[in-house]
Amino acid sequence: MQGAFAEHVRALEKSGARTRLVRTREDLEGLDGIVLPGGESTTMTMLMERAGLLEPLREAIAGGLATFATCAGMIVLARDVVDGMADQRGLGLLDVAVRRNGYGRQVDSFEAELDVTGLGGKPFPGVFIRSPLVESAGSTEVMARLDGHAVAVRQGRIVALCFHPELTGDLRLHREFVKLAAS
Ligand code: GLN
Repeated sequence: MQGAFAEHVRALEKSGARTRLVRTREDLEGLDGIVLPGGESTTMTMLMERAGLLEPLREAIAGGLATFATCAGMIVLARDVVDGMADQRGLGLLDVAVRRNGYGRQVDSFEAELDVTGLGGKPFPGVFIRSPLVESAGSTEVMARLDGHAVAVRQGRIVALCFHPELTGDLRLHREFVKLAAS
């Protein structure tokens, strides 16, 4: 719909997946997995609602469609959004409470090295851009933390990150997601 989807397409294709942009409910058919990219969560949910995609997407993800949500994508999925727009409507499927722009505004974008569960080798370069801050990780499995706050969580076939793996050359998280979607 909007946001950093082209970068995800590139990273997924490099990780061995075939990709399709999802703009209508028909585009959801036959998918093994879906990426909810970073961008502007309010715009995304508005466009999804207009396209009649919000409910079918909710059903598909609730039904077990593997989902990789980054940054704004995590906000779209979250059960609770603090400091969202008054009428911000999301999918409410991921048991986290997030604060929009919880790390500050654009000037406060930063990078941090993260130890992510299941990724061997060196730390993952976390790129944070007006990222949501996870205030409560609920019942999700926390895969990485920064300053005590969860920044990567897993809940069943959903993986959600506060940062932008598609903006780094590091494909490890995309490769893991491709494996999850294929399983
Ligand atoms: N602040 C944005 C939002 O609220 C998210 C930023 C991002 O995805 N990089 O949707």
